[in-house]
Amino acid sequence: SDHQLDYPISPDHMDWSKLYPHFIDSEKKELTKEVTIADIGCGYGGLMIDLSPAFPDKLILGMEIRVQVTNYVEDRIIALRTNHTKENGYQNINVLRGNAMKFLPNFFHKAQLEKIFFCFPDPHFKQRKHKARIVTSTLLSEYAYVLKEGGIIYTITDVLDLHNWMVTHLEGHPLFERLSEDWESQDKCVSIMRYATEEGKKVERNKGDKYVACFVRLPIPEII
Ligand code: SAM
Repeated sequence: SDHQLDYPISPDHMDWSKLYPHFIDSEKKELTKEVTIADIGCGYGGLMIDLSPAFPDKLILGMEIRVQVTNYVEDRIIALRTNHTKENGYQNINVLRGNAMKFLPNFFHKAQLEKIFFCFPDPHFKQRKHKARIVTSTLLSEYAYVLKEGGIIYTITDVLDLHNWMVTHLEGHPLFERLSEDWESQDKCVSIMRYATEEGKKVERNKGDKYVACFVRLPIPEII
């Protein structure tokens, strides 16, 4: 349960140095940059592994609630780092165990993130379980808080009902605007997201449909 989860009381209390040791300023003993890309419910980590070389200068964090899955991703990243010949190979990705529906503002400052991914989130089919979905109006306000203006929320799912749910909630939120299919077709993260994750690969093998929707974080409207 959440009681066993370790989370900082504020982003300033978070020690990132263990997660990204190659990005530490040796004098200040601090990271030289902040995490700007988050994969929420990262599962087995496939998305981060493909994003890593595509964004070598960005720090990427996966958040995953299941202990064993998080441990697996940690081991996977250690192995990738060890076996990689390039000096900084896979040093810019890591995973944290956490409940993203509760503690995001404990980890990230306001406007810290540039991209948030929701890849194949749990569908929670039953009506009474809809409130457990990772996209709800309340949670969208939290995502808007940690995302900077112009930042992007990426969503992909094979469940049409969940896709429609995410689109309706995001379109209904004053701080998000849907991006066009044209935009999607030119964005490298969209193509990575379609094929990189373990769920995405499974859907591909089963020749299932994948529904994508991306949203830009709008500025807070001025009150006149
Ligand atoms: N994104 C991965 C992919 O596409 O392969 C995994 C998809 S899997 C269907 C959904 C994942 O979200 C599971 O690994 C689950 O444990 C995780 N998850 C569910 N609720 C979560 C929460 N509140 N915080 C963090 N992770 C969560």
